[in-house]
Amino acid sequence: MAQMRTPIESGVPDNKQYLHPTLLKNYGNWKYHDRPRPGVLHHVSHSGDEVWSVRAGTQRQMDVYTIRKLCDIADTYAEGHVRFTIRSNIEFMVSDPNKVAPLIEALTSNGFPVGGTGNSVSMIAHTQGWLHCDIPGTDASGAVKALMDDLHAEFIKEDMPNRVHLSTSCCEINCGGQADIAIIVQHTKPPKINHDLVANACERPAVVARCPVAAIRPALVNGKPSLEVDEKKCICCGACYPPCPPMQINDPEHSKLAIWVGGKNSNARGKPTFMKMVASGLPNNPPRWPEVSAMVKKILYTYKEDARAWERMSDWIERIGWPQFFEKCDLPFTKYLIDDWRGSRATLNASTHIRF
Ligand code: SF4
Ligand code: SF4
Repeated sequence: MAQMRTPIESGVPDNKQYLHPTLLKNYGNWKYHDRPRPGVLHHVSHSGDEVWSVRAGTQRQMDVYTIRKLCDIADTYAEGHVRFTIRSNIEFMVSDPNKVAPLIEALTSNGFPVGGTGNSVSMIAHTQGWLHCDIPGTDASGAVKALMDDLHAEFIKEDMPNRVHLSTSCCEINCGGQADIAIIVQHTKPPKINHDLVANACERPAVVARCPVAAIRPALVNGKPSLEVDEKKCICCGACYPPCPPMQINDPEHSKLAIWVGGKNSNARGKPTFMKMVASGLPNNPPRWPEVSAMVKKILYTYKEDARAWERMSDWIERIGWPQFFEKCDLPFTKYLIDDWRGSRATLNASTHIRF
């Protein structure tokens, strides 16, 4: 008789096996939650059970010693369970309010700030950077560490008009996603091709197909099959570099950083929005990226001063208008901020009625 094949386990495991027992018992049965202080969430269940989640920031790229230290804190001061939020904060759950203060003390004395809830600047969502990805032009996680060191005071307080989500991306493909303020690599020159390597390293049709503006053509160079780029068409996106590393796009001088603002994923108050570039050509300057930090802080603190309560960055800009945004933040509006890509008909307002 035919036997049922045992399914091969793959994908994300069932999270219930890892939940704190109080969370498991009250799964889907929560009555309300509040925040007794920045960095602490208090959930109350219909069953009467209560749980306190203490949120802390880390340096994000963690070595095994740091992870062990966090696990020791979880075993000693919490109840042995942790979880990571989508912005890479760590949360410790306790079912006894008396455990909250010692847990906070243990975290802060070990260098993990408690905060990131409510109207704070939460941890920066970031892409992998030099450590994990094969195409970055900068180290997103390094920029995060440098910037969060500067924004520490805004992480541990809830003093912003609304929550502020930041993100960084280490290539122009931007897997960092939409954010109130985002730092994204900006290539300013077409890729440099090492023709000796293309034939061995690249699947040429795949590379040709990869270019969003059809700027790559197969070519014979020095008798070897290679590729060429129509530099007038190239928008310097870097999409050809992952499938073909000999098409080097990263450049110590010409790969820059740009700041984008006004993106959000949530439907709260208004619909989700795409962010827009407001500063370009900032130097990619590790290990502390001071120019980027200064620019982000300028925009962030102008927003903090000027926005009304509960306005996200995009709501604030929509209310005051883009010209006012540039004026208030003291940013120059340059030609580099104009979307002049020839495919932009699909992205610009192409109606016969000009609307701004
Ligand atoms: S932003 Fe680009 S380089 Fe960075 S992790 Fe994502 S795909 Fe890789
Ligand atoms: S950088 Fe982008 S636009 Fe330029 S050739 Fe490569 S894929 Fe095409």
